[in-house]
Amino acid sequence: MKNVLALMVLLWTAVPAYGQNPPVYWLLWFDTEDYIEPGSDDAAKRLAEELTKRGVKATFKIVGEKARVLEQRGRTDVLRALAAHDIGYHTDFHSVHPAPAEYLSEMGLIDGAAEFARREQAGLRTLERLFGVTPSCYGQPGNSWAPQANLALRQWGLRVYMDDGGQVGWDQQPFWYGGLLYIFNLGPHTVRADLNDPSKLDEAKRKFDAAVESARHRGGGVVHTYYHPTEWATTEFWDGVNFKWGANPERSEWKGPQKRTPESMAQAYRLFLEFVDHARATPGLRIVTAREIPEYFLPRDAAPPSGLPRKLADGLDAYDGFSAADLLLSLLGMEPQVVDGPARRGETTWAEARIPRAAFERARKDAAAFISKEKRLPDGVWLGSRRLSLADFAATLAGDEGSGAVQVRKGKLEFEKRIGTNAAKQYNWVIHPQGFAPESLLEMAKLQAWTLKPAKLR
Ligand SMILES: [Zn+2]
Repeated sequence: MKNVLALMVLLWTAVPAYGQNPPVYWLLWFDTEDYIEPGSDDAAKRLAEELTKRGVKATFKIVGEKARVLEQRGRTDVLRALAAHDIGYHTDFHSVHPAPAEYLSEMGLIDGAAEFARREQAGLRTLERLFGVTPSCYGQPGNSWAPQANLALRQWGLRVYMDDGGQVGWDQQPFWYGGLLYIFNLGPHTVRADLNDPSKLDEAKRKFDAAVESARHRGGGVVHTYYHPTEWATTEFWDGVNFKWGANPERSEWKGPQKRTPESMAQAYRLFLEFVDHARATPGLRIVTAREIPEYFLPRDAAPPSGLPRKLADGLDAYDGFSAADLLLSLLGMEPQVVDGPARRGETTWAEARIPRAAFERARKDAAAFISKEKRLPDGVWLGSRRLSLADFAATLAGDEGSGAVQVRKGKLEFEKRIGTNAAKQYNWVIHPQGFAPESLLEMAKLQAWTLKPAKLR
């Protein structure tokens, strides 16, 4: 597989028309989630089949309960049509409360990861049973994003987080975060065509072309488009009708959403497929799935060039595609590997300007031992009965000249600027309770930003 891919890349870059142009990849994905309105089953089937006819492989992120309902309704035809595409995961119940951000806002990193796994893994197993593959990716319902999910997803063998949101990002292109390749927060590189207004189609095509051009201008990149099959079946969302602002009615009380007329349905397919045909005709654009996309990026774990880790002394951030965690591991003499950020924010209680060499060396060994054992960064290091926060420890280590007493440096947490602010805004979703503002999740996102770095194309 790798060799075939290498050959394809070789052949592809050998063609002059492509060779001059940096690669641009397009991901088309569908959150396949409506387990109430049966018309959305037909929509999923028709979309999958129309795309297959056109040779376009999309990614369908499927809700566990949606897959079970398809099975109960005897819709093996829908499952078969979907199986021709890539299969991703989109939670077990999507909008039945508590949604992921609701239950994870009350939890820490490790207990939260365990709770996410406990609540969500039944749906993952359903998809594995029905499709015979581990889903390629995960994405949260609505904007119910939480960093604890990363640990569980990695453990399940998923490599990609694909969705949209404002909680974390890197320059509107894919990035590595919590050990996963994130296709997330791509700004203007996220383009959709309106399914209801034909007069807006040309504008959507122009926006698509501009996004491709922008990605190419950056030396290559990713553009994505997402929908929900249910958008072709109904005029309102199945979950807004039932689970709005924290409502949680019993199943017997669930109501069906308003359906499209046959005319508006036909128009929605026509507009969408014309948009897809426009993408297909875009010169040099590669249409890929979430399963394929990691292969187009440089490996996640590599050793940074010597000298680079010392940049942490001036500011804690990713440099040249290496995360602050990567650089810290290198300073500690450790092999490149996935680690999580600290579970808590530590405080510095060491008051002097210098640290005796022997005490600092002990702290350094202890930090490396902790990381080896826990596969996560400690929140600080002990110097006898006092402490350095992880940030101050990393900056001090990076600035250490290696002789005499060690000069203490304050760590500047530059990477935290890449985390969204204002939880009320970031989590404003019609399904969350009104006023839901989980600042704790943005704080946890900042702690995990030690692992944040841009993903570089091969
Ligand atoms: Zn969804």
